[in-house]
Amino acid sequence: MMRPILCVLAVALASCHTQPRWYKGNLHTHTLWSDGNHFPEMVVDWYASRDYDFLALTEHNIVADHEKWVGNDLVIRRGGRTALADYRKRFGNDWVDHREVKGKLQVRLKKLDEMRTLFDDDFLLIAAEEITAGFKGKPIHINASNIAGRIPPQKGASVREVMRKTLAAVNEHKKQHGLRVLTHLNHPNFGWGITAEDLAVVTEEHFYEVYNGHPSVHHKGDAKRPSTERMWDIANTTRVRDLNAHVLYGLATDDSHNYHNASGSTPGRGWVMVRATELSADALIEAIERGDFYASSGVVLDEVSVDANSMTIEIAAQGNATYVTEFIGTRRGSDEIGQVLARVPGLRARYHFSDKDLFVRATVTSTLPPDNPVFKDQKQKRQAWVQPVVPADLRGKKQ
Ligand SMILES: [Zn+2]
Ligand SMILES: [Zn+2]
Repeated sequence: MMRPILCVLAVALASCHTQPRWYKGNLHTHTLWSDGNHFPEMVVDWYASRDYDFLALTEHNIVADHEKWVGNDLVIRRGGRTALADYRKRFGNDWVDHREVKGKLQVRLKKLDEMRTLFDDDFLLIAAEEITAGFKGKPIHINASNIAGRIPPQKGASVREVMRKTLAAVNEHKKQHGLRVLTHLNHPNFGWGITAEDLAVVTEEHFYEVYNGHPSVHHKGDAKRPSTERMWDIANTTRVRDLNAHVLYGLATDDSHNYHNASGSTPGRGWVMVRATELSADALIEAIERGDFYASSGVVLDEVSVDANSMTIEIAAQGNATYVTEFIGTRRGSDEIGQVLARVPGLRARYHFSDKDLFVRATVTSTLPPDNPVFKDQKQKRQAWVQPVVPADLRGKKQ
């Protein structure tokens, strides 16, 4: 087929970008490299053999770039009684490196570069780390994706200082290696580590997990503390109204550790859909930084478009599901944080901005449950979370 003329010219200039499309990925996963319970290639294969386009292995304070051996007794203790046999069956005996030390069987964990040789070019494995720190028992976990090597966890005199020092360390790494690195703050309610106020004032961070598929992260908050989703609106109200700062964007992730049975943090619960021109870490992160992505626990969107006057969402129908889109935001001069500004049923929802809006985001809820619900007793439904939009006159210098 003949290439369009513009593309021919672009090829001459060594870049021929296609139209943007949606790419599906999970930016929070664990394997035996840290506290996950399966061999890394088996985990990558779980995603690559489904409809995912990209994955980040985000181990606690470690990157899969050096020699590391794991005892099979540990693998079994973590629930992987058949893990080694399954691993050998999937990738062949020749692929699996093993040795015996003092009569105990050990297996070498493959590095990212080795893993990449197993999967096609249409699946992207991103080098990443869950920078795992804390302050007085409060967990402070920040994922850094697209890194050149390990970034050590930081210490500080408060939760906010640890957050800031972690982000500064990533920034330094970014400059040193000339890489586009994405940081996102993980599961703020895990161990009740990070409050909405912390999220608001550490404005260097532009991303957090609005949804994390781990069952122990207090996604819904409790009687005294807000849900993870509600924290989003509290933080963004402060950021836009008082701090003239960039809004927080929300990701959904798996934070998967368990690949052997149906309990615990299993894969396939939360992901992002990113609209990018190509499948590369650089293009994906550039789109995420622009806010051109949404978070999902099962709802698929065909289109999210924003112009000066409105936001429009088009939902892809699934089975006999019906949908409600809630446009949520805070109004200027109002004390009501994160109010539902409009509730629109159907496959197409449009919101016309008001000159009173501080920011507007959307949550789409299906009548169908997720394939792998986290809150089995609470009638969880599939959702999608669309990024907040700030009116042009409120986008300050720090945007
Ligand atoms: Zn974590
Ligand atoms: Zn994690």
